[in-house]
Amino acid sequence: LQERLGDVFDKLRRRGALSEEDVSAALREVRIALLEADVALPVVKDFVEGVREKAIGQEVLRSVTPGQMVIKIVNDHLVETLGSEHSALNLTTTPPTVIMMVGLQGSGKTTSCAKIAMRLTGKEKQKVLMASLDVRRPAAQEQLRVLGEQALVKTLNIVPGEQPVAIAKRALQSGALEGYDVVMLDTAGRLAIDEELMAEVAAVRDATKPHETLLVADAMTGQDAVNVASAFQEKLGITGIMLTRVDGDARGGAALSMRAVTGCPIKLLGSGEKLDALEDFHPDRIASRILGMGDVVSLVEKAAETIDQEDAEKLAKKMQKGKFDLDDLASQLKQMQKMGGLSSLMNMLPGMNKAQMAKMQNAKLDDSLVKRQLAMLSSMTPKERAKPELIKASRKVRIAGGSGTTVQEINKLLKQYQEANRMMKKVKKMGKKGLMRQGMSG
Ligand code: GDP
Ligand code: MG
Repeated sequence: LQERLGDVFDKLRRRGALSEEDVSAALREVRIALLEADVALPVVKDFVEGVREKAIGQEVLRSVTPGQMVIKIVNDHLVETLGSEHSALNLTTTPPTVIMMVGLQGSGKTTSCAKIAMRLTGKEKQKVLMASLDVRRPAAQEQLRVLGEQALVKTLNIVPGEQPVAIAKRALQSGALEGYDVVMLDTAGRLAIDEELMAEVAAVRDATKPHETLLVADAMTGQDAVNVASAFQEKLGITGIMLTRVDGDARGGAALSMRAVTGCPIKLLGSGEKLDALEDFHPDRIASRILGMGDVVSLVEKAAETIDQEDAEKLAKKMQKGKFDLDDLASQLKQMQKMGGLSSLMNMLPGMNKAQMAKMQNAKLDDSLVKRQLAMLSSMTPKERAKPELIKASRKVRIAGGSGTTVQEINKLLKQYQEANRMMKKVKKMGKKGLMRQGMSG
């Protein structure tokens, strides 16, 4: 596949904005990669269209091809779709928190139930009670009891002949009476979705009002993932997904299919039969597994870093010369957004002492403020940015209006600029002294 991609991109090797042809050519390959990873067809179609819109017109970084650029955009879109941040189990309610495990038979519900319980009791010091509601498969309740023993987690005592709703109610009662933090309900599964099973689980849901309903699904689930996920979502309303058997060689397209169809976060991964084989979900890792183009992605990331570095160095040089206008402030803010703070930039300036570094770092700005400041700066005319002293009262009103901010905020920004400017001038002086000192000792 890599080779095929290479062929396509060689033909397209040039710089500028991504054209429709660039994007289409690369997306044909992406489509194949996603289908090979077993992402469901309708999901592939939607996903590819979403990326197409995003990609066309975007600038191609120096030293990468348009095709490579598209792959990076695809990867980022994939990470975003999978859920940009890690999403934890919801345990914030008044105890006991009820967690219900649902899914097809053999998907790994019982094992996952014990894995989660073990993690909660161990690392998170929660008091957990597990109960098996699987009265259909012989020995299913016994299976959970044995796993509970291994995991050092209490299981509800088994009463022969008791039905799922009654077991669930009893579990909740014990949970409340005996001061448990979490009650986990392991439900029965079926080989395929059927009405009877859904009705049974829905009855348990109505009787227990779970805080978390986790859909447990095998990472090997292929094209069927969409049907499974949407059926459980529709009938039960799931709150999260646990993907099991990621230790196998499936590329995990089911993660994208299920996330796209349900909109529910993937919360955990099962990575083996043992009870400690439980992992947090990292969208970037699954994305690179689904796409199978990790090399291209890291290549483009390197290129982006290099360019950031070059821009930062240019800016640092300007600052050293003591020249610093509002355009520079704008690019500094943009750099800060990308590089996560002023400190990386400061490191490039000679003559900065520790106290000054610390002062600058303390002035670290939060993201939303930086966004507002960039809005103010872009509402100024180029002339104003080059000559900030032009910005008097009436201009401030105009800029505030244009950027959806206030005159006070503009004043604050200008003050910050003046301070930065003073700092730059000092740096310039110190830089000279530093050079002199070097000269004397050398
Ligand atoms: P249930 O029918 O949904 O309750 O599924 P079980 O929990 O009984 O699991 C079925 C089989 O899958 C068992 O043999 C488990 O050991 C195995 N299993 C569960 N999770 C994983 C996993 O993450 N990786 C691997 N390799 N096997 C798993
Ligand atoms: Mg089971």
